[in-house]
Amino acid sequence: MIPESRLREQICLLAKSMYERGLTSGSTGNISARTEDGGLLVSPTGACFGRLDPARLSRFDAGGALIDGDLPTKEMPLHSAFYDTHSTVGAVVHLHSCHSVALSMMPDLDEDNFLPPLTPYGIMKLGKVKLLPFFLPGDAAIGQAVRGLAGKRTAVMLANHGPVVAGKDVEAACDAIEELEDTARLAMLTRGLNPRALTNDQVQALITKFDLE
Ligand code: ZN
Repeated sequence: MIPESRLREQICLLAKSMYERGLTSGSTGNISARTEDGGLLVSPTGACFGRLDPARLSRFDAGGALIDGDLPTKEMPLHSAFYDTHSTVGAVVHLHSCHSVALSMMPDLDEDNFLPPLTPYGIMKLGKVKLLPFFLPGDAAIGQAVRGLAGKRTAVMLANHGPVVAGKDVEAACDAIEELEDTARLAMLTRGLNPRALTNDQVQALITKFDLE
């Protein structure tokens, strides 16, 4: 694992990069990462992804107590739910990314597999993305819904709100949530145009080749 000082820099750098590319705006989005000692660094409540300060990230110890920094995002129950149900998760990211949110409002979605199989990397980086219903922001019920998935999913979509993705580290979680947004964008661009998605055989070949399940 990387030292905490570098982890702080990395969280802020990647958040700024996503903000500058319009993946989340204003003071939306939140991000967290495991520290070397089993604690967490978390983006503060009301903070802008474009201007996160490495020195002011909320710092939790391994027991879950806030020990330093600003008050954390109100979506803490959502982040905790991923860490508590996945032993290998090292980071969690949540965005209000436009195309994913648009896609979550469309009719006739497969709630168990929200993203259509359009590209190999969407499948390789995300697996099946579960569409969760609408909850009020910060509602502890969001965390409960993630816990209900029992660690079987690393990516969920909160309907009319935004995606949440967990990864082994900050880079992996950010790469995967960007892939989710890109795939949702492709789905919206091609919706109604009868696009040729990957076939079941092609999806199965990917799963076999890359040992995805
Ligand atoms: Zn949100």
